[in-house]
Amino acid sequence: ETGEPPEPLHRVDGHNYDADNPFSDRINATLLSLVRNKELKELVQSMQDLERTWNHKFNYPWTFINDEPFTEEFKTVTKHQTNAECRYEVIPKEHWQIPGWINRDLMHESANLLEDMDVQYAHMDSYHQMCRWNSGFFYKHPALADYQYYWRVEPNVHFFCDVDYDVFRYMRDHNKTYGFTIALYDSPPSITTLWPETMKFVANNKQYLAQNNAMKFLTDRDRRPEHNFQANGYSTCHFWSNFEIADMDFWRSEAYEAYFNHLDRAGGFFYERWGDAPVHTIALGLFEDSDRIHWFKDIGYQHIPFFNCPNSPKCKGCIKGRLTDGEAWLNREDCRPNWFKYVGNEWDSTAA
Ligand code: GDP
Ligand code: MN
Repeated sequence: ETGEPPEPLHRVDGHNYDADNPFSDRINATLLSLVRNKELKELVQSMQDLERTWNHKFNYPWTFINDEPFTEEFKTVTKHQTNAECRYEVIPKEHWQIPGWINRDLMHESANLLEDMDVQYAHMDSYHQMCRWNSGFFYKHPALADYQYYWRVEPNVHFFCDVDYDVFRYMRDHNKTYGFTIALYDSPPSITTLWPETMKFVANNKQYLAQNNAMKFLTDRDRRPEHNFQANGYSTCHFWSNFEIADMDFWRSEAYEAYFNHLDRAGGFFYERWGDAPVHTIALGLFEDSDRIHWFKDIGYQHIPFFNCPNSPKCKGCIKGRLTDGEAWLNREDCRPNWFKYVGNEWDSTAA
């Protein structure tokens, strides 16, 4: 007995990513959660859903990250939710603190203006720090150095559908960089200068543009008239990044590092409230081949107030085909049709 499965190990024909497939090799991946100690209960909710619908079949390790040490209670309770390995990590100070080139007075004056324009969390410094960390630092954490793929999980999210294949293996075997479930329009005043800064970067760095990029998607103007504002040329449509299944090689690339550094110096993480979602989306849309971005239609997901709820018997507990169970106007926030219009709905084209 050698313990070696026969070849071919890596690429099984068709879609045989089943948990019980003896040839299913493990992918270098972790479930990843940036979370605060006080969110323990909400995180347990997310863990229970993801373990029940998916991870108990695969036991991918969990990595929890915090800007301060996790409590013993946090560790004990979360470990109890999974058979997989759990790791608890603290963010290096220099990855989290507000950089020295940010002018605090200007930052707080700007927050007043943003607040007047109804930008959420304008005055919450930690929220700005979190968005910057999720944009340019999480994948630089030493504890993630040996991982390639991650699945981002927030406290108090819900997973509704049984998923019976290894999604990380799907990503690798189909050469995918990024997977999303929901895409939404953003609040323009939170990202007023993000697109102009991006255009400055691109003007000096044309070599980074992907041949099959999604520029048309990023600059779409077809948002319904009653709601029609762009952010200086950007449609504001973004993959909602509280859910991400992605390949960190992209964030670790020379193109993304240069782009992030340009944005970071421009200061908009603090003088505006640039989110990691529009930053990730714009970078993917410009510097990655659109074919490498995947809509996980089959992963039933909710982060209040929005759902991705497929019409499938594998899904329980969400309202099929609905974006929200909140107020009706929220339905207009869905911009996935914008993505499908330009890039296509891969799901339909590959369905049996
Ligand atoms: P929202 O979804 O945009 O309303 O923002 P959340 O409050 O859910 O924050 C997004 C993610 O970052 C969640 O996983 C939070 O747990 C995490 N987060 C936000 N602020 C902090 C912080 O100051 N420290 C830590 N450790 N995590 C944070
Ligand atoms: Mn959240």
